[in-house]
Amino acid sequence: MTRTLASHAGTPTSIRVFAAPDSMRDWSRRVRGAGRCLALVPTMGALHEGHRSLFRAAGEAGDAVAASIFVNPAQFGEGEDFEHYPRQLEADLEICAAEGVEAVYAPARGAVYAPAHSTWIVEEALAAPFEGACRPGHFRGVLTIVLKLFQVVEPDVAVFGQKDLQQALLIRRMVRDLDSPVQIRIAPTIRDADGLALSSRNAYLDADERQRALRLSRALRAAAQRLAAGETDTGRIRQAGRALLEGNGGLDVEYLEVADLETMQTPARVEGPVAIIGAVRVGRTRLIDNVIYPPGALAGLSAGASTS
Ligand code: AMP
Repeated sequence: MTRTLASHAGTPTSIRVFAAPDSMRDWSRRVRGAGRCLALVPTMGALHEGHRSLFRAAGEAGDAVAASIFVNPAQFGEGEDFEHYPRQLEADLEICAAEGVEAVYAPARGAVYAPAHSTWIVEEALAAPFEGACRPGHFRGVLTIVLKLFQVVEPDVAVFGQKDLQQALLIRRMVRDLDSPVQIRIAPTIRDADGLALSSRNAYLDADERQRALRLSRALRAAAQRLAAGETDTGRIRQAGRALLEGNGGLDVEYLEVADLETMQTPARVEGPVAIIGAVRVGRTRLIDNVIYPPGALAGLSAGASTS
């Protein structure tokens, strides 16, 4: 289906919206057959400035940009927000068109998961801590959908956000381990002016919760500053961050930890590139964020793909 929407210049622009895997793949093969490098940005929709930045990074990495919009049930656990996750396809298509995305793959659930779907992608090292420990089965759902999207869209490049750092590193590992030809790029986290990382889930926060949520990015920064000041003891670095999360009006902390960027394990002392990585609950909303030290260290990682 071709839709005509206004581009950022106000001129009408057409965007193709595919619900069926075969029609998506046909388009993609035509694009790549014409010698154009295709970059894919997988999303769950409810698009914001963070997604827009990925579309721009994809435009720099490739000649044509495709996005996928699919709220993947397999990556939500029982009692999580799958039912309530914001869905706004029309507004999302406007954003895609404005950012020069040429095609959107927006399948219905039944086009993605056949009845009695029973094949899953499981990674056994990087997936274990943090999000993997707090959300059992989450990464199994993520890796499976990402590989399925790669099978349908057949992109040359795919762009993911550092905001979901563990996910991005896992995808890079999967691509390397399973010989997928897709090149993985990781683009920086986009934040509001006050530091809050943009997230589709921020829409759940009321004004008071949003204010309290700021503590997460502040805590991560405080821990990174301690590191930058020369501290190498992981316990003291962690404590510098946690001190800002606890106390009056504190947040419900799931983890705030130092993670080696190559292994996602927590070192006793920091000797190489690390992430300070955190997850909190603010009311009923779960938020994650991270900062990398030294800044820019992602670009130097070995795991078989470049970064942006
Ligand atoms: P989602 O729609 O939340 O599944 O996210 C789709 C992609 O956008 C993932 O690669 C996320 O890491 C990325 N993303 C989400 N929030 C941000 C942000 N604030 N800055 C940059 N990328 C983001």
